[in-house]
Amino acid sequence: MSESPPFPLFRFGGNKPGPRLLISAGVHGDEYLPMLAVQKLVQHFEESPALSDSLAGTLTLIPVVNESAFSLGRRCGEDGKDLARTCPGSPKGTITERVAAALSREIKSADFYVDLHTGGTELSVFPLAGYVLHPDQTILEKQRELARSFQLPFCWGTSAGLKGRSLSVARDENVPAIYVEYFGAHRELSEATRGISLDHTLVHGCLNVARHLGLFAEEESTRIAPEFIEDTRPDSGHMQVCHPAPATGFFRSRVELGQEVGNGALLAQITPPESGETIEVRANRAGKVIVLRDYPRIKQGDAIAVIADPFPQV
Ligand SMILES: [Zn+2]
Repeated sequence: MSESPPFPLFRFGGNKPGPRLLISAGVHGDEYLPMLAVQKLVQHFEESPALSDSLAGTLTLIPVVNESAFSLGRRCGEDGKDLARTCPGSPKGTITERVAAALSREIKSADFYVDLHTGGTELSVFPLAGYVLHPDQTILEKQRELARSFQLPFCWGTSAGLKGRSLSVARDENVPAIYVEYFGAHRELSEATRGISLDHTLVHGCLNVARHLGLFAEEESTRIAPEFIEDTRPDSGHMQVCHPAPATGFFRSRVELGQEVGNGALLAQITPPESGETIEVRANRAGKVIVLRDYPRIKQGDAIAVIADPFPQV
């Protein structure tokens, strides 16, 4: 018998044949809306056993993967490690390494995987479903379909080379997987404090994926055709390294999330408290602003924005 995982886990269905779908939230401890959305799903299935029994396949829900980080209200757990850089982890390691090992075990035993995120405390991310540009074309196509089925406005395919992520485990195990990003920072807090209903975009998105995979008898209904951008550059998808701040100081963004900008466009201004002189940060490529810092203070080296553009250009 395997030992119980270091996070709460809920399984529904399993009486009828069908795919095993795993959905997780709270890989980072300061991304609250996805945790509330998955908790809402748990409540929805617990309140309707008939719905759970009717599932063709198994739905596994993990509302808060990283309880250590959640209890601190921070991205990383008490050992200071980022769970999304620690997978596949180690069952005998530190708390984050143990959680990574348990999550990796769940991913390996799934047929499809959805990992929900936001920009956390200081970043905001345009609502998107992301996937790695898997070398296996069949898996890549399934991932594009998963991303589309979540029904967010934007889908982003990026380098398959990044290490340590939950999606790195899925990639290595050939489990089709997507991650989802949905705002963050102040945008997220205002929604989270109002509470999450079954109509929330994130709850809907998870149910859309389950419908797409045939877990429900009811057919998938497609309402929007998302924009797709794919980027084969080796570091694409690494949100924490783009447009690093040249100085620590007060931060003011000069673009909107989702805006199309030209190369050289003014992205932000930073005013170090000691000099009072304003430093401008400009876009190093043209494209769509999909990640933007959303906090009045920035530290030197912190990412200011991510701009998505197709690569290679076609
Ligand atoms: Zn995250």
